[in-house]
Amino acid sequence: MAIALLWQGEKKDGAIMENYVFLPERGFYKNKKTGCIFCSNCLVNGLESSMAKSMTGPRLYWQCANKECGRTIDRRASDDEGVVS
Ligand SMILES: [Zn+2]
Repeated sequence: MAIALLWQGEKKDGAIMENYVFLPERGFYKNKKTGCIFCSNCLVNGLESSMAKSMTGPRLYWQCANKECGRTIDRRASDDEGVVS
């Protein structure tokens, strides 16, 4: 909870953040309209960087599109729930 409050304080553009919902148990944001997954590292800095599915090797994960960040999060089947394509 303390971490969430800290992040709230650090956000730079509230208008952007209104379009996303944070999933604390997963560590990423989802776009409320599209259900696409976005990098929390980048979003708190005002950069809307989507995370793409990577399927190389045995590990399935999401990878931040921002090369300077490059964050990865292990995928779960439930991550795709609510995605409208
Ligand atoms: Zn990122």
